[in-house]
Amino acid sequence: MASRVCLVHYHEIGLKGKNRSRFEHVLMDSIKAALAAFSVATITRISGHILVTFSERGEAEAAMPLIAKVPGVARCSLAFHTNREPAEYCKAAIEALREFGSFETFKAASRRSNTDYELTSMDLNQQVGEALCLAFPDKKVKMKDPDATVHVLVVQGSVYVYAKSIRGVGGLPQGSADKVVTLLSSGIDSPVATWLLARRGAVTVPVHFSGRPQTADTSEYLCQDIIRELAPAVQIGRMYVVPFGDCQREISLKTPSDLRVIMYRRVMYSVAERIAKLEGAKALVTGESLGQVASQTLENIMAVNEVVDIPVFRPLIGSDKQEIIARAQQIGTYDISCQTAPDCCTLFMPRRPETHAKLDAVHEAWEMFDHEAMIEHLVDSVEYVDFDAPVYHRPRAMKARHEVLAPRETRVRNHSDKTFDDEELLEK
Ligand code: ATP
Ligand code: MG
Repeated sequence: MASRVCLVHYHEIGLKGKNRSRFEHVLMDSIKAALAAFSVATITRISGHILVTFSERGEAEAAMPLIAKVPGVARCSLAFHTNREPAEYCKAAIEALREFGSFETFKAASRRSNTDYELTSMDLNQQVGEALCLAFPDKKVKMKDPDATVHVLVVQGSVYVYAKSIRGVGGLPQGSADKVVTLLSSGIDSPVATWLLARRGAVTVPVHFSGRPQTADTSEYLCQDIIRELAPAVQIGRMYVVPFGDCQREISLKTPSDLRVIMYRRVMYSVAERIAKLEGAKALVTGESLGQVASQTLENIMAVNEVVDIPVFRPLIGSDKQEIIARAQQIGTYDISCQTAPDCCTLFMPRRPETHAKLDAVHEAWEMFDHEAMIEHLVDSVEYVDFDAPVYHRPRAMKARHEVLAPRETRVRNHSDKTFDDEELLEK
C-alpha cells in the first residue's frame, strides 16, 4: 500500500553552488519548524528535492499548503511513495491523476536518479502512460503543455508518483541571510515589507513604537497578531516594543508642527539602529512607498535617513498600494491591519506636515530638544515579547545591553581605541 509524502521543490537554492548543501539544511530546518504541530517522521534530501514523511495518515495533505508558505519553497507536491513494483506505481499514477482535479489532456514524465533500475525513463513513461490510458479512456495524451502531468521519480528502492502540486512562495530559506530589524507598525505596509525580507532569507526582528502611555496598547497586540499570522512558515522570535507616547508629546511641544513627523521618525530610526546593534542586525527595513504619504517624499526620506549609519531597506518603495494590499491579503495580515488602533503614527499628528523638508530647518528642529537623552531614555525603556522561532538567536548578554545601546558619544569615550564587536554578544 502506497503512503503519502510531501516532495518539496526549490529553485534558487539549486543555483547556490558551494552553499547549496548549507541552504538545503537551512530549508529542512525551516520546514521542520513550520511543521511542529504535525506528526513528521523524517525530513531528508532526495535527488534535488526535500522529502517529508509523516507517521499519521492524512497529514501530508494537510501539511502541503503550509509547506508552500515556507520561504525557499518553490513548489510542494503531494506524492505517493511506492516500491518498484510496476503494479504498485501504476496504481499510484492512476490515483494521482484522479485526485488532480479536472483535466482533458495528460502525460507521464519519469525520471530515474540512479541507473540500476532496468527500465529507462522512456520505458517508464510508456508503461505508466499505458496504464493511465486504460484508466482514463476518454482523456487524451498530449506531450506539450498538457493539463496534467503525472511525475514518476525513481530513487533507489523507492518510487514517488505525483500529479498534484501547489506553488510555493519561492525565495530563500530564513536564516540563509543575516538579521535585519524591521520597523513594524500595525498598518498594511510594514508587515508586507517584513515578509519580503523574510522571504529573501533574513531573520527579521521587528521593533514597534507604541503611543503608550498616551494611547492604549492595542497596536502592540495587533503587531503580535501579525507575527502569529505569519508563523509558523515565517519565523519571528522577538518583537521589541518602544513606548513612545510621552516623547512624542515632548517633540510636539518643542518643535515646529510641520517638522514633527520627521523628528518622530529620526528618533524612531535612531532607537531601531541601537536595537539592531544589540541584535547584531545589519540593516533596518521599513514599509515606505514613494510619495504614499507626506513623510515619504524623497526629501523627507533623506532627512530621516541621515541619522543612521546602517543601510535602510524599503522593499515597497516602488509598489502601488493595490499591489501591497494584494500581498497583505495573500500573507494573511490585511484584515489585522485594517483594524484601527491608535499608535505613535496617529498621535500628535500635525495638520499640515512638511512634504519637502529643508535640511537646515530639520537640523535646527533636531536641536530644539535633547534628542540624545530622549533616544537613551527610549532605549532604556524598550520592552520585548518572545515567540517560538528556532531560527532566531537572541542576544546572549542582555546585561551588556546598556553598554551596547549607549549613545554614540558615550561609547566613543568609553572605548576610544576599540570598536565594538557585536558578534561577541551573540549566541550562535
Ligand atoms: P504602514 O502601513 O507600514 O504603517 P504607512 O503607509 O502607514 O505604513 P507611515 O505611517 O508613514 O506609512 O510609516 C512608514 C513606515 O515607518 C512604516 O511602514 C513602518 O516601517 C515605519 N513605522 C511607522 N509607524 C511605526 C510604528 N508605530 N512602529 C514601528 N514602525 C513604524
Ligand atoms: Mg502607518
